[in-house]
Amino acid sequence: MTTLLDDFLSGDRSRVIHALWQTIGSRDPGELDPLVAALPRIRRQTTALDLGGMIYSNNAHLEHAFTKIEQYRDGKCWCAAYPGILTNDPRKEEAAGHIVIRSTSEPGWSMTYDCECTVCGQEFDVEQGDHHFTWWNWVPRGRKRRRGEV
Ligand SMILES: [Zn+2]
Repeated sequence: MTTLLDDFLSGDRSRVIHALWQTIGSRDPGELDPLVAALPRIRRQTTALDLGGMIYSNNAHLEHAFTKIEQYRDGKCWCAAYPGILTNDPRKEEAAGHIVIRSTSEPGWSMTYDCECTVCGQEFDVEQGDHHFTWWNWVPRGRKRRRGEV
């Protein structure tokens, strides 16, 4: 059985692309732990690779996969990986139980979502837009201190 680490180190463009998307979507310590230890090696082995990409560069997505691994290493919540990439559909994240959508603007191709992480309670304003395909921009809300709250 090949692991994500094998894929990252393979030098093969399609295997690296597979591994980066798998990493971005993963919440499985069994998958992510080996990547934490090997991150410097993965970076070295992939820097020279041109991963292509039609509209957005796959190399940028690879960088995001590295960021995700670092956030996991540093004990950050899974939701820390939502900002910085445009592929997280709030409805799919809600179906997976990762977030709840508390409210939305008038539904349409251009709309906003008010979301909350089910793990840590972080709130996000998510803007949905369309540029060749539908994208979502996740912006974390600063924790607002309410009147009377210590
Ligand atoms: Zn969270």
